[in-house]
Amino acid sequence: MRLSEPQHSFEQTLDECVTGITGNAALRQMLTSERPALTAVGVQYLGAAGIGELHTIPPIRTDRDTDPVVINILKKSDLVKVYEQYFVPEKKPARKIYDALLNAAKEKCPFCGGIGTPRNLDHFLPKAHFPQFSVLPHNLVPACRDCNMDSKAHTFSTNAEEQIIQPYTDADRFFIEQWIFANYHADDEEEPGEFEYYVSPPENWTEVDKQRVRKHFEDFNLAKRYAIKSAENLGIVLPQIRNMRKLDIDSDQGNRA
Ligand SMILES: [Zn+2]
Repeated sequence: MRLSEPQHSFEQTLDECVTGITGNAALRQMLTSERPALTAVGVQYLGAAGIGELHTIPPIRTDRDTDPVVINILKKSDLVKVYEQYFVPEKKPARKIYDALLNAAKEKCPFCGGIGTPRNLDHFLPKAHFPQFSVLPHNLVPACRDCNMDSKAHTFSTNAEEQIIQPYTDADRFFIEQWIFANYHADDEEEPGEFEYYVSPPENWTEVDKQRVRKHFEDFNLAKRYAIKSAENLGIVLPQIRNMRKLDIDSDQGNRA
């Protein structure tokens, strides 16, 4: 599902985070002085995301240093701290931006198309590997418990065709054109049959785009989750249809009598 673009800019978000830093003058000072450098990488993110090339942004190297410098004087731990201590907590001024992003999903998780309800924000590019985007609004996507990217094997893609769909920035075709279909195998009238969901992207899409939606579909386990959900719904609807049919037959007989 498409999400409308965040209402708050990266600059506004950084400023609100800075306002909330009350007991750590050094971090406050660093974040203020690195504001231009951070907003520059935010611009880079949006440029790459708009053309489906987030995979070209390299992750930070953590093989030699567990807390590497990310931007000039800002280390990974500083940027993770900004998110965890000055963006997420209820009492901090930046929390209103967190809530605005979460509420904008209107209770529907964009990754699974709304079968789940978002409980928190996830980092599209994980903050462990891309701490420079730890509070970039466009990188913060509401996600349901089942789609939760932080707990998934999915981390980030290093090639174009393995990128899942970015709800804020990806091209309209992913949200407007149909690429998921289903077959229904009826068992008998008493029981819901089986749904079989599959991906069939439009012919005129590029190979990369076709691969991307397949990857998205697999990463979020949508075939199984949609099949369960639709069998559940049909289990509710089928008895209602049967009852209505019965009423029809009864009233037909009544008329004849
Ligand atoms: Zn979901």
